Amino acid sequence: MTRLEAAREAAAAAGLDALLLTPGPDLRYVTGYEALPLERLTCLVLPVVGEAFLMVPRLELPAAEHSPASRLGVEFVPWDETDDPYAVVGGRLGAVGKVGLADRMWAMQSLRLRDAVPGAEQVLAGTVLRGLRMRKSPAEVAALREAGAAIDAVHAQVPGFLRAGRTEREIGRDIAEAIIAAGHSTVDFVIVGSGPNGASPHHELSDRIVSEREPIVVDIGGQMPDGYCSDSTRVYAIGEPPEGFLKYYEVLRHAQQAACDAVRPGVPCEAIDAAARDVIAAEGYGDYFIHRTGHGIGLETHEEPYIVAGNAEPMAPGFAFSVEPGIYLPGAHGARIEDILICTEEGGERVNHRTRELVVV
Ligand code: ZN
Ligand code: ZN
Ligand code: ZN
Repeated sequence: MTRLEAAREAAAAAGLDALLLTPGPDLRYVTGYEALPLERLTCLVLPVVGEAFLMVPRLELPAAEHSPASRLGVEFVPWDETDDPYAVVGGRLGAVGKVGLADRMWAMQSLRLRDAVPGAEQVLAGTVLRGLRMRKSPAEVAALREAGAAIDAVHAQVPGFLRAGRTEREIGRDIAEAIIAAGHSTVDFVIVGSGPNGASPHHELSDRIVSEREPIVVDIGGQMPDGYCSDSTRVYAIGEPPEGFLKYYEVLRHAQQAACDAVRPGVPCEAIDAAARDVIAAEGYGDYFIHRTGHGIGLETHEEPYIVAGNAEPMAPGFAFSVEPGIYLPGAHGARIEDILICTEEGGERVNHRTRELVVV
């Protein structure tokens, strides 16, 4: 079954009349079309009954025709600058009760679709597509392994970029170049958190000069040409960091391993979070682990399933997600260790294989 058919079936099972997918990961997942997110409407209209069609601005038609969407047997409906594409969608859809909108659709589009398809209840397409997107196919798992190998190759080069006296930004520029050289098509983020900056989980780059004997948190990721994302964190130091750091780094390493060991089908996502959190709390660092343990990954760096307390969703083969506990001592330093895992019948399979020991340069 094609993803288009699977999406249609899932929409029908959820009681929806149609999915309306504008550019973004939902559209790319269903059609393979990496459309530009523009104010001009591009929208796959996938009714539960009847033929799907793609509304596409006339000037975007060549791009759409060269995309994998052209092989789906979906009618392309080009519209000209003076047309009202929303009215065309409304007219073709007719009276419907409930539509699913791409999760990342812009408000300017969702509100115009609300007016163009009056009376239809709008829900998130994600409520329908999440079940499909969470369970990665063998081809998607292979793509994530490839992304994992690419970001591992970048981490392998990081020690060569670290020298006392350089700034985080200089180091980050080298890393960004290496991310592209390793096969990614885009750099999604480069976090180089040295010393106290390591205590801010989403610190990116600053002009702070890196010095010896301080931990440096390096969390990096990008998107491969096929759309699948990488995301991995390792901690480095130029010369041995202080005893206090080494003590909690060991705790963190055990916590990350415990969470990875807890992965198997049927286990609720929140249990993976608890496995890491319990180890950290037992050693007295519970207050310093200030975020969830992980997030799903695929065509988006952050997607379902979230590895967080309160998420009772049972793990299933094909789930792909990060395991990235952290310990952050404000004003001092911090650490995070992050791998992407695939849930298999046998347990968790890591796609990242660089050492999880502190890398002392
Ligand atoms: Zn994050
Ligand atoms: Zn992550
Ligand atoms: Zn990360």
